[in-house]
Formats: sequence, structure tokens, C-alpha cells
Amino acid sequence: MYSLINRLARPELLTMTPYQSARRIGGSGDIWLNANESPFCNTEPAYNRYPEFQPQALIDNYAAYSQLDTAQVLASRGADEAIELLIRTFCVPGKDKITICTPTYGMYAISAATCNVAVNEVQLTSDWQLDEDLANKLGDSSLLFICNPNNPTGSTISVDTIEAIIQACSERCIVVVDEAYIEFSPQLTSAKLINQYTNLVVLRTLSKAFGLAGLRCGFMLSNEYLINLVKKVIAPYPIPAPVGDIAAKALSPDGISLMRNQVATLNTLANEFTQSVEKLEGVEAVYPTGANFVLVRFNDDSWFNALAKQGIVVRNQSKVPTLERCLRFSIGDSEEMKRLTQVLTETAKQLAPQI
Ligand SMILES: *Cc1c(COP(=O)(O)O)cnc(C)c1O
Repeated sequence: MYSLINRLARPELLTMTPYQSARRIGGSGDIWLNANESPFCNTEPAYNRYPEFQPQALIDNYAAYSQLDTAQVLASRGADEAIELLIRTFCVPGKDKITICTPTYGMYAISAATCNVAVNEVQLTSDWQLDEDLANKLGDSSLLFICNPNNPTGSTISVDTIEAIIQACSERCIVVVDEAYIEFSPQLTSAKLINQYTNLVVLRTLSKAFGLAGLRCGFMLSNEYLINLVKKVIAPYPIPAPVGDIAAKALSPDGISLMRNQVATLNTLANEFTQSVEKLEGVEAVYPTGANFVLVRFNDDSWFNALAKQGIVVRNQSKVPTLERCLRFSIGDSEEMKRLTQVLTETAKQLAPQI
């Protein structure tokens, strides 16, 4: 059942025993002298003890939220760490490679580069869908990264399309679906396919919809066998105790409903922003988004500086192949969006050809 995983994983991991930290070996008793911790509590709450390897409350809450088993969930230091862990688990440096579908999130290629792993780029189509022949363009990649909704385009891919590529790759590579923005388009999640396909990994984060970018907490979702392999690679205590506590609270029923209300607000603001910017002179395209940002293509490269002069900082995408003259706007609160729309409207007037 897991023969593909066994074939693709770095061979030395298969036979390796994970590091047995004091916390993981555990024990029972009331005098704990097994981890060289200090007996003194210098803070309130106390942090003199090592945290749980995977904080139980956090994993329970995320499993309930994602409708999976706790054994199918791994918490990490942001989704970024999960990306690197997958590369370290499945790619032999200097030998194996990954495939990414460009333009997309930059960290897949950066993580691969830091591990001396080659990157095979397959362009998305002109409307940012998966290349129809993607399955035949993977070479012998160990991992295929698909970002859905995609950063920085905001474009989305249907679950059926993703399922088809997972099927087409079922004997060839692991498909990693990065769902950092899935809360803004929850109907598009592939997480429900995890019980059906052993070559699927879904990445999640608390950094976007949950409003906890400073916390550094993300999740890898997959079958238990793959998760256990990655547990051999991850640090012995990856989740700091206060992070585990705050994240578990954010994933309580109250935390989730707060997040859902905020997502509804941001989705409305994204629609309003799209409608008001579409009409402006000098705006060539406002691309549909499934995330909390909107990609806009302008008629020239002057807009980024015009916004900067007014104190508005956005992400310039114009150096990214196929994204010439594009800026990516994160959706802020209603005051921020009002000011942004005002400045864009004024800029459109100033830059418009004078008659
Ligand atoms: C923001 C982002 C991440 C990183 O998430 P962290 O949990 O903050 O590390 C991963 N993937 C995509 C597509 C992102 O946009």
C-alpha cells in the first residue's frame, strides 16, 4: 500500500529509528529527572519543561477542524517548515528533484536550492490552470507542488483536476497541495482525498485566515505512514509550548467561528476592491481570487512607486515571468482598503494621458 512512499523516501530514513527524546520516552511518576531540565520555574506560566513533541490539544483540534485522524496531522513551524521537511524526507541532495507549477510561491524553489535539490518548472496555462500534459512533464520528480489557491495569482484549481493529477501520479510521485489560503475558498480543499490516495500531502497554516503569522504554526496532513516518516526528520521539540497553547485556542470552536467571520469580511472586501479597481484607467486586469489578496496588472511600472509615495506597501510581482506590471494587494481592513482605493483612483487620474 505504501510502496510508492518506500520507493521515493530517502532510503536511510526507512530503517532509521527516530531520536528518542526524554519527552517522547516519557514515563510516570512525580519526580522528573530525565531531561536535564531546571527544577526552577522562572516564569508564569512555567516553561522549565520541554514541550510535548506534538501538543495533544493542538493536534486534536486540528484533526477535528480538518476532519482527519490525529495520526494524519503533523504540526510544524509554519507551512514553510513543512515544505522543507518534505524535501528533506523525499529528496536525496544532488540527485532527486521536485516539480513546481509557475508562477507560484517562491519557497518551494528556495527550500529545494538550500537542500541542493533540482527544480523542474512547468508553467501554468495562460489562465493559470495546470498544464494539460503535467503528468508527462514531471521527469522523475519525487514531489509535485501545487498551490491552491495559488500565490501570487489568486487563481484556483478544481478538486476534480487535482484528483486527476494525483491519480495520474499514483505510481510516480507525491502530490503536495499547499492550501495556505484554503479558508478563503473552503470548498476547494483536497484534504478529503487523503483517505483515498497514499501519494497526497496537504499543507495548511495558521498564518493567513487565522491571523497568526507571528506565531509560526503550520500543518502537514497525509496518511499516517508518510507522517511517521516526516516525524523522523522534524526537530525533537518543534512546537514551543506557548505556540501550542495559543494555536490550540485559535482552533477551538470559538476561534474557528471568529476566523470564519473574518474570512467572510475579507472576501467581501476583496470583491469590493476588485469592482472598484477594474474600472480605473490604466488597470489592464484584476484577476479573480480565491485568497485574501488580489493580483492586478497595470499599464506600466509606475504604480508601485506611486503607491509607495503615499505610504502604501504592496508586493511587486513585475519581475516574475508572465507577471509583468503586476502588483499583489493583500486585503486589509475596511479603512485600509478605502484609502488604497482612493490612492489608486487618484493615481489613475494623474497617470492618465492628459488631453
Ligand atoms: C504564506 C504561505 C506559506 C507559509 O506559511 P507559514 O505557515 O507562515 O510558513 C506557505 N505557502 C503559501 C502558498 C503561502 O502563501
